[in-house]
Amino acid sequence: MNLLIYTMYGCPFCLHAKAFLQERDIPFQEIVVTPGSEEWGRMREKTGSGSLPQIFIGEENVGGYAHLVHLEATGALYEKLGQTWRKSDTPLYDAIILGAGPAGLSAAIYTIRKLMKTLIISKDVGGQVTWTNDVDNYLGFSQVNAAELVAKFESHVKTFGVERVIGKNVGAIDLAGRIKRVTLEDGKTYYGKTVVIATGGSHRPLNVPGEKELLAKGVSYCSTCDAPLFDDADVAVVGGGNSALEAVLDLVNIARRIYLISLTPLTGDSFYQEKVRHSGKVEIFTECRPTRILGDNMVQGIEYQSLKTGEIHTIDVEGVFVEIGLLPNSSIFIDTLATNRKGEILVDKECRTGMAGVFACGDVTDVPYKQVVVAVGEGAKAALSAYEYLLNQK
Ligand SMILES: Cc1cc2nc3c(=O)[nH]c(=O)nc-3n(C[C@H](O)[C@H](O)[C@H](O)COP(=O)(O)OP(=O)(O)OC[C@H]3O[C@@H](n4cnc5c(N)ncnc54)[C@H](O)[C@@H]3O)c2cc1C
Repeated sequence: MNLLIYTMYGCPFCLHAKAFLQERDIPFQEIVVTPGSEEWGRMREKTGSGSLPQIFIGEENVGGYAHLVHLEATGALYEKLGQTWRKSDTPLYDAIILGAGPAGLSAAIYTIRKLMKTLIISKDVGGQVTWTNDVDNYLGFSQVNAAELVAKFESHVKTFGVERVIGKNVGAIDLAGRIKRVTLEDGKTYYGKTVVIATGGSHRPLNVPGEKELLAKGVSYCSTCDAPLFDDADVAVVGGGNSALEAVLDLVNIARRIYLISLTPLTGDSFYQEKVRHSGKVEIFTECRPTRILGDNMVQGIEYQSLKTGEIHTIDVEGVFVEIGLLPNSSIFIDTLATNRKGEILVDKECRTGMAGVFACGDVTDVPYKQVVVAVGEGAKAALSAYEYLLNQK
C-alpha cells in the first residue's frame, strides 16, 4: 500500500514524520507544498485541514505525525500498509516512568497497583540516596543504611512485578502526541500513553581535590540530612545563596562554629542573611574560592583562596557542606516542557506538567524541599494523576 506524505519546508513535525518512516524502511512519496499553491489546495480539499504533515495510506488520510506514532504503537500501521508479517517490536505501555530514584519507584507501585502496564527506565536504581551512607529522617526508620533503604524500595516494587530497563540513559523524547515516544541513547524506542518524569537532580560539585574522596566522610551535599552528625563540631558551608544560608541555619543549633565561604558577596535573601549574621556562631568569608578539602580518611579542614589578596588560608573543620546548587536532570525536557530559572520542571499540585499525559515528580520539579519523603509522596501523586488522565481518555 502506498504511503504519501504532504510536507512543507521548515515544518519540524514533517521532518519527524519522514525520519520515523526512514528509520523503519517504510517507502513513501512526498509532496512538498507551499501555502496557497495548487497542491496545498488539493491537500486541504482531501483532508479538510491545513496542518502539516498530512499522511495518506492508499486513499485513507491517517492524520499527522502524532497519528503515525499512535498507529505504530497500536500495531495498526503495518496492517494498513498490508505488511501483516511485520509487527511493531515494542509494546504500548500505559505508563513509562523515567528514573528509579525514590520518586520513580514510588510512582511505579501506584501505577502497577492500578493495573497500568508500566515500564521503568533508569540509569540506576536508588538515585541520590545511593550517594549517602545513612538516612535518619524517613518515616518509620530512626536510622537506616541508605543502600538498605534502596534495597527495600526496590524489592517492594519487584513484589508487584514491573518491567524495567536499568543502566540506560534516555536520550530523546517526543511527548506531544497522545502516544509518547521515549528513545534511549542506544536508539531503542518505547511507547507510552503517559510518561512520568522522575529523573531527579544532581548536586553541583565544587570540583576541588578531596571532595570526591571524602564524600560521606565529612563532605555532604545535604544539610537537612547530615547536620545532626556534626554535634559540637566546627564545620564549613560553601556557597552564598539561599541553600547555603539555610544550611547554616540548619547547623546553627548543632555545630560549635560555622565558617561560611562564598565566591561572591552573599546573594541569599536578606532575611536569612540577617539571621545568619546574628547567630553569633558564624564567620563569613566572601569573595573566597575553596581550593581543596583536607583529610585522609575523614575531613580535617578546608583550604581557600582570597580573591582580593590571592592569599591561601586553611581552617580546621570536621565537615564541609557544599551548597552551591542542585542541578535538575531536565536537559532533555527543556525544549518541550515549561521550566523555571533553575531548569526545574514546573508542575501543578497534581504533578501535571502542562502537556497532556506527561507528569513529573521529585527533585526534577519545582516542588520545594528536596527530600526522600517528599519525592516518594510526589511520585505517588504523579502516578495517580496519570491513572486519572487515562480514565478520562476512554
Ligand atoms: C548526599 C545526599 C544525601 C542525602 N540524604 C538525604 C537524607 O538523609 N534524607 C532525605 O530525605 N533526603 C536526602 N537526600 C535527598 C534525596 O536523596 C533526594 O531528595 C531524593 O533522592 C530525590 O528523589 P528523586 O527520585 O526525585 O530523584 P533521584 O534520587 O535524583 O533519582 C533520579 C533517578 O533518575 C535517573 N535518571 C536521571 N536522568 C536520567 C536519564 N536521562 N535517563 C535515565 N535515567 C535517568 C537517575 O539515575 C536516578 O535513578 C540526600 C541527597 C544527597 C545528594
